[in-house]
Amino acid sequence: MPSSIVSELAEIVGAAHVLTDPDTTARYTTDWTGRWHGRATAVVRPADTVEVARVLEVCHRAGVAVVPQGGNTGLVGGSIPMHGEIVLSVTRLDRIEDPDPVGHTLAAGAGVTVARAQDAAREAGLIFGIDLAARDSATLGGIVATNAGGVRVIKYGDTRAQLLGVEAVLSDGTVLTRWKALRKDNAGYHLPGLLAGSEGTLGVVTRVLMKLHVPPSHSYCALVGVRTVGAAPALVDLLRRAGLTIEAAELMTDAGMRLVRRHRALRAPLRIEPPYYLLVEVSGPADTEGLLLGALERASDLVLDATVDDERGRRLWSYRDSHTEAINAASSTPPVKLDITTPLAAVESFVDTLTHTLATEFPHARPILFGHIADGNVHVNLLDVEPGQALPVTGRVFELVAAHEGSISAEHGIGRSKAPWIHLARSAVDIEVMKAIRSGVDPTLTLNPHILPAR
Ligand SMILES: Cc1cc2nc3c(=O)[nH]c(=O)nc-3n(C[C@H](O)[C@H](O)[C@H](O)COP(=O)(O)OP(=O)(O)OC[C@H]3O[C@@H](n4cnc5c(N)ncnc54)[C@H](O)[C@@H]3O)c2cc1C
Repeated sequence: MPSSIVSELAEIVGAAHVLTDPDTTARYTTDWTGRWHGRATAVVRPADTVEVARVLEVCHRAGVAVVPQGGNTGLVGGSIPMHGEIVLSVTRLDRIEDPDPVGHTLAAGAGVTVARAQDAAREAGLIFGIDLAARDSATLGGIVATNAGGVRVIKYGDTRAQLLGVEAVLSDGTVLTRWKALRKDNAGYHLPGLLAGSEGTLGVVTRVLMKLHVPPSHSYCALVGVRTVGAAPALVDLLRRAGLTIEAAELMTDAGMRLVRRHRALRAPLRIEPPYYLLVEVSGPADTEGLLLGALERASDLVLDATVDDERGRRLWSYRDSHTEAINAASSTPPVKLDITTPLAAVESFVDTLTHTLATEFPHARPILFGHIADGNVHVNLLDVEPGQALPVTGRVFELVAAHEGSISAEHGIGRSKAPWIHLARSAVDIEVMKAIRSGVDPTLTLNPHILPAR
C-alpha cells in the first residue's frame, strides 16, 4: 500500500479523521462478537458525500481496498478489515432531515443510528419501521447494506421493503442518486433494492430515504408460555384470526430466559417455567385488550400460562432485548451466532432435529435459540464452542437448514463467517449472476473484496 495515501486521505477529511494508531482503531477492527480481529491501514471518517466520493476516488486510483463501516454491530464479520484495508466509517454522516408528515418519509445520513431515526419519527407522530436490539449503534447505512430485519418485519417488512431512495458512492467515486419519494416507480431496475443486502460490495451508502408508518392506536403485549415450538406460530395464527394485527412475535426458550434473568437480575415473568415463551405484541381497535384476552382463553390447549402488558410492554420486551447481551456474557468462547430461517411449517422439525444433533454430535456446545418466529427466523446461538469446533458445528447446522429448505442467512447477511457455505443457499447460476453484477459495478473489487462471491 502506498504510504502517501494516508496523507492524501488526511487532505480530504482532515488529519483528525484519519486514524492509524492501533489503540484508536481497535474498536473499528474487532467485531461485536469478538470473533473477528483484523487490522486496518487507516480508518477514515469523512463528513459528507463529497468527501466519501473523494476518498473512494483516491483509493480506487491507488488500488487500495476499502471496507465500509457503520455502527460495527454486524454479526457476520463483514465490517472488519482482515487484510489491512482502509475502513471507511460513515458515522459522521449523521444529519437527519425533517420527516415528511404528509408523505410519511424520513431522509437521513447513512451514519444516523436506528434509535435516532426512531426518535425523529416518533416526534413527528410516526413510526420508523425497523427495530432491533442494536438500535443505539446500528446505522441507517448499515441496515440498508445488510437489509436488516428485526422485530417489526412481520408488520412493515425488511429494510428493502421500506427503502424509497438512496444515495451511494460507487467504488470509483461516482455518486449514484435514486431519490424520489414515490411509492410506485417502475422505471427500470430497482437499484435501491439491489444495494439493500449488498453488504458494502456495490457502493457506500451515504443517504437514505425511508418510509415511515402511522402508529397503532391500541397495542398490547403478551408473554405466553407454550409447550412446543409449533405452538407459537399456531397461536400467532389464532390471534390474527381474532382480528388482531401482529406487531411482533418472538420465540424464546427456557434456557435463554434463565440466562437473561441471571444476567439482568429479573424476576420470573410467569408462574411456571415453560419450555418455550412467545412474546407477542398486537394492535387493533379500542377493545384490543379484550380481543387478546379472549383469544388467549380460547387457546387453552396451546397456552400454559400468560401475562399481558400495555404501553407496548417494555417490561416484557426487556426479556427479549437482553438475550444477545446475556449470551455474549455467558459464553466462555465467542458465541457461534447463526441466523437462519426455514418455512414456517418446518420450524418445529428443524429445532427438534437441531437439538438432537447437537446433543449427540457436539455435546459441549450449549444452544440458546430465540428469534422472530412468525418469519420462520431462528437465531441459533452456540455457547462454549471450542475454537476448533466452530467451523464443523456451523457446517452441520447449515446442512440441517438446507435439509429443511431454509436459508443460512435470514437477516445478518453472508459476510465472512458464512461465505464458505453460500452454495447451500444459492445455486451456481445464482452465484454467477451476483458476480457479474458485482464486477460490472466494481470491476477492480475495491469495495469489501473479501466477502460474498467475487470472481
Ligand atoms: C444486539 C444485536 C442485535 C441484533 N439484532 C438484529 C436483528 O434483529 N435483525 C438484524 O437484521 N440484524 C440484527 N443485528 C445485526 C446488526 O445490527 C445489523 O446487521 C445492522 O444492520 C448492522 O448495522 P451497522 O451500522 O452496525 O453495520 P456494520 O456492522 O458497520 O456493517 C455491516 C455490513 O454493512 C456494510 N456497511 C455498513 N455501513 C455501510 C454503508 N454506509 N454503505 C455500504 N456498506 C455499509 C459493512 O461493510 C458490512 O458488510 C443485531 C446485532 C446486535 C449486536
